[in-house]
Amino acid sequence: MLIHNLISDASKILKKNKIKSHLLDAEIILADLMNISREHLITSHYLPVSNKIKKKFNYAIKRRYRREPVAYITKKKEFWSLDFIINKFTLVPRPETELLVNEITKLLKNKRIDILDIGTGSGCILLSLLKELQFAKGIGLDVSTKAINVAKKNAKKFRLSNRTRFIVDSIDNFKLGKYDLIVSNPPYIPFNEISKLDEEITNFEPLCALNGGIDGLDLIRKVIYKSNILLKTNGYLAVEIGNNQYTEVAKILRDSCYREISKVCDFERNVRCIISTKI
Ligand code: GLN
Repeated sequence: MLIHNLISDASKILKKNKIKSHLLDAEIILADLMNISREHLITSHYLPVSNKIKKKFNYAIKRRYRREPVAYITKKKEFWSLDFIINKFTLVPRPETELLVNEITKLLKNKRIDILDIGTGSGCILLSLLKELQFAKGIGLDVSTKAINVAKKNAKKFRLSNRTRFIVDSIDNFKLGKYDLIVSNPPYIPFNEISKLDEEITNFEPLCALNGGIDGLDLIRKVIYKSNILLKTNGYLAVEIGNNQYTEVAKILRDSCYREISKVCDFERNVRCIISTKI
């Protein structure tokens, strides 16, 4: 069978199952299985595909129309122009988290700093920062051993193992070292809003990476309080927050003696990240 026919059949099936990005998803999945870039795939439409790949492709398309995100099927996701390994034990890195990385790199370019990433997941925030900040080193913390294994693989893949350490621990127990920058994209969805999210999220992404407790702020509060102990004087705390959480989080920061340095809005004008410093 030719690439062209496979893509067109799969795209039709996905469309029928109401997957909006049906063509793109079919292309990404087949390119991944053939180990070629998507660009290469679309310019080679009349090349044949082996039976083995066709079988794997049909199975992957079945997973996709059952709403599994493409990133879990291909086990990778691009973030900050790096191809991160991910799996069901890690959240899929989101484009809005790149806003956080962008703001921090502007602020700390060329600085020799120690970073702590709380709830590192795939390691996407810490490793992207280390790619940009060549004099920095950092620790990634997560309660999930399986997520930490993924983060370690990514560190190795991007040749950053010598500047990183990944530790399985909870923020409650962790007390190692002092940091110039603490960064976190903590779980921040209010518990009873989780079931209202898209089933691509609720059925596939790890609940513990989403659930922020009754008001969604349980983990953000912990990160803010604990950073008071773990930050060096004049250190920075950079957190990602959820929709409509800005006023509340800004108050917790003020009450905990932080001064806001900058905030970044997402494409829908919600404040998504706050950077503050200890006063
Ligand atoms: N830091 C990771 C990310 O931004 C994981 C975040 C989480 O699990 N809440 O993707």
